[in-house]
Amino acid sequence: MSQRVKIRQVLQDDSTNYEVTVKGWVRTFRNNQFIALNDGSTNNNLQVVVNEAEMDPATFKRITRGAAISVTGQIIPSLGKGQRVELKTASLEILGDCDAEAYPIQPQKQSLEFMREIAHLRFRTNTFGAIFRLRHALAFAVNQFFHQKGFVYLHTPIITASDAEGAGEMFRVTTLDMKNPPRNEAGEIDYKEDFFGRSTNLTVSGQLEGELGAMALGDIYTFGPTFRAENSNTARHLAEFWMIEPEMAFYDLKDNMDLAEEFIKYVIRFALDNNREDLDFLATRLAEEEKQKPQAERSEMGLIEKLEFVLNNDFERITYTEAIEILRNSKPNKNKKFQYPVEGWGTDLQSEHERFLVEKHFKKPVILTDYPAAIKSFYMKQNEDGKTVRAMDILFPGIGEIVGGSQREENYDKLVARMNELNIPVEELYWYLDTRRFGTAPHSGFGLGFERLVLFVSGMTNIRDVIPFPALRRTRNSKSNTPDVYTKAGALKRLLFHFMEIPMPASYCQLSKTIQCV
Ligand code: ATP
Ligand code: MN
Repeated sequence: MSQRVKIRQVLQDDSTNYEVTVKGWVRTFRNNQFIALNDGSTNNNLQVVVNEAEMDPATFKRITRGAAISVTGQIIPSLGKGQRVELKTASLEILGDCDAEAYPIQPQKQSLEFMREIAHLRFRTNTFGAIFRLRHALAFAVNQFFHQKGFVYLHTPIITASDAEGAGEMFRVTTLDMKNPPRNEAGEIDYKEDFFGRSTNLTVSGQLEGELGAMALGDIYTFGPTFRAENSNTARHLAEFWMIEPEMAFYDLKDNMDLAEEFIKYVIRFALDNNREDLDFLATRLAEEEKQKPQAERSEMGLIEKLEFVLNNDFERITYTEAIEILRNSKPNKNKKFQYPVEGWGTDLQSEHERFLVEKHFKKPVILTDYPAAIKSFYMKQNEDGKTVRAMDILFPGIGEIVGGSQREENYDKLVARMNELNIPVEELYWYLDTRRFGTAPHSGFGLGFERLVLFVSGMTNIRDVIPFPALRRTRNSKSNTPDVYTKAGALKRLLFHFMEIPMPASYCQLSKTIQCV
């Protein structure tokens, strides 16, 4: 194979009059003369000029839209408008033919809905090329940010175990023959016969394991796939998504918020600095889409402006209680425009409320803190008022919740009391409680849904368009265009079933009085 140069490099290079070999796919072939060649390294195509008279006619005929080709020739200053350089072909080889008639990707604009139906080919379009290069850059920036701060990337388990039955949001993992599963005396499926000797699921969060790491390594983060069999089928939820979950020893809620804000700004800055061409392309795409909307619904800012705005402004920080007051007195609430009217303190916020706060009231990202304990998870640090917990959710324009986090309850007795109130099996979570028994310390963390971040930075509106292979519910309740209304009822229940198995040496069993060792 001859030395191949990537098109990105050719277009970046200032020099001309040198020989290269490029390989890529034909995007268009104009006037039997100009090939727009793309190799995925950049959104921009290289103009390849061919001279039919000098070519083998059989090869010439095979230059079709979608075909894979290899071209060797001179990079020369372009005679035409629109590009600085072009490639004057000396030799051209067809690597793979493409029947342009049968090829689903057409040169004219095709809808995102159609692209989802041919998701296996959509990488070949400008839009999805830009999105997935951007997604890569953001993932890289995530690791760079935490690495620079001395965090340890901890890989938490993807298969987790649970004794509890009926974990609604979890996907079960089993090697049992579901046509004829072993049964116990009560007639229930006997998971003792299963691969791990118990029932297992795909993880819904790595947080609890992350806390174990933080209480020894100091600062850790996870960045991995997460699975939720959620009923909600919205433009913001996937059944399989990627989550970033940092967990920090000795951080209180304010430190936690400061880190989250710095982190989000860092990765956005990274994308602006390193993926400007892709972002400019996506900004133009978005501007065109906005033009189709009625004036009143158009967003005031373009994509780049919106990103710069987030970088240049502090996130608004208010308590849940303050938010309820704002919502209660808001115009849409008084005019009964909310689907879920805001009446009393204590109810969970719906996405319509979150969006009102962010998009209409503050017009910038908002961090909501100190939620009622009843609507948040058991591990969150209880406030002195006896009603609220040190939770924080970060809400973003167009997205709603992008981050959910909290300071964790580090007091063993308070944590156990709360677990008992909620009927959470204390014995099963002994490993989690051990962090509070042996050298407990204040600590905090949060979870950021990676796809929601990519949504925001790319200016896309449907989460299915920012993950290469979206996993969605296909059965009951699955509608392609369900309204963006969902509840958080699952959040509390979910972690109750989170459990992992740690092998216990016998000596440890004697130490641990709360555990029944078998
Ligand atoms: P939501 O109310 O939006 O369903 P949640 O309260 O269930 O969110 P958490 O359990 O706090 O979310 O998860 C942390 C983060 O993971 C969320 O802030 C969000 O960015 C992301 N997230 C949660 N569920 C999904 C999902 N089904 N698909 C994609 N991202 C998700
Ligand atoms: Mn949810």
